[in-house]
Amino acid sequence: MSEQLERVKTLIVGSGPAGYTAAIYAARADLKPVLYTGMEPGGQLTTTTEVDNFPGYPEGIDGPTMMMQLQQQAERFGTEVRIGMITAVDLSDEVGGIHKVTVDDSKIVEAETVIISTGASAKYLNIPSEQRLRGGGVSACAVCDGFFYKGQEVAIVGGGDTAAEEASYLANICKKVTMLIRKDEMRASKAMQHRVNSLENIEVRYNTEVDEVIGDQVVEGLRMVNNQTGEKEEIAITGLFIAIGHKPNTDIFKGQLEMDETGYLITQPKSTKTSKPGVFASGDAQDKIYRQAITAAGTGCMAALDAERYLATVESKETLVS
Ligand SMILES: Cc1cc2nc3c(=O)[nH]c(=O)nc-3n(C[C@H](O)[C@H](O)[C@H](O)COP(=O)(O)OP(=O)(O)OC[C@H]3O[C@@H](n4cnc5c(N)ncnc54)[C@H](O)[C@@H]3O)c2cc1C
Repeated sequence: MSEQLERVKTLIVGSGPAGYTAAIYAARADLKPVLYTGMEPGGQLTTTTEVDNFPGYPEGIDGPTMMMQLQQQAERFGTEVRIGMITAVDLSDEVGGIHKVTVDDSKIVEAETVIISTGASAKYLNIPSEQRLRGGGVSACAVCDGFFYKGQEVAIVGGGDTAAEEASYLANICKKVTMLIRKDEMRASKAMQHRVNSLENIEVRYNTEVDEVIGDQVVEGLRMVNNQTGEKEEIAITGLFIAIGHKPNTDIFKGQLEMDETGYLITQPKSTKTSKPGVFASGDAQDKIYRQAITAAGTGCMAALDAERYLATVESKETLVS
């Protein structure tokens, strides 16, 4: 590893709505933020063509354009945006301590505050037809994309609480929802099961998996397979929602920050403070409930304000001591 060392006031990890919003606020507070984009510059929204629910865009906007504009806004106030991946961290336990962050296994940046905005990745089935049609009718976010299938027939894969909740959400918008559950029972809570079963336009198929998503450019149908009998059946649908879970991108913080059993970072209530002083978490990396661009942006703002207050407290203590 090289000996290059650099000290920054605020280092932001991730370039989704949380990271760029944190950057806008941190830059305007003169924290001179440095932001590392990671492997997906612009974050999850760069994989979607239409964002209709972010306030301020009356006609909607495509994800990549929205994220480019957020980057430009962050840069306008002096954020330094760098392409690079944080590959390791050594976070201090001390108030006023310096956090060491390794970039691309080769360079160490020392940071007085760190804002984590590394997001979460939706899990997919990883079959070729599903991957090919992502963005063409295959989605991992019913709240984001359900509206585009108003009055149409769709299917959803998964049997947990999120799948049950998303199936109920879709049932309010769509004509019919077919729910595919791999096992012979639903993992969701009894209350959620009751909700699903009470909705007439949801058809639950147990012991059923996706064999192939049908369609060339867009989803036109689904071939399902019963994993007990091997029997296959095709249905016509226009949208397929995958609700089999998310994985927060927090592996590099394991053993250093408190997280729940799935890896979501734990923050103090009504704050973005993590278990280490000077380290703040925002966006999907710490939110397994809402997972929206606007909530990610909101917590990005909170993280920058929390970092600013933290630095002010540390600096005033240093002044008193000296
Ligand atoms: C297909 C799809 C459509 C969606 N549509 C909508 C919608 O219409 N409306 C809506 O509100 N929400 C939508 N969402 C959800 C929304 O995209 C997320 O809630 C939001 O992007 C979360 O923002 P974030 O900043 O927390 O993380 P992300 O957007 O996930 O960004 C995470 C960032 O962290 C970076 N990163 C990760 N690890 C590292 C590392 N080790 N070092 C450096 N950088 C790292 C990544 O490169 C990325 O830039 C959609 C999601 C998907 C997948």
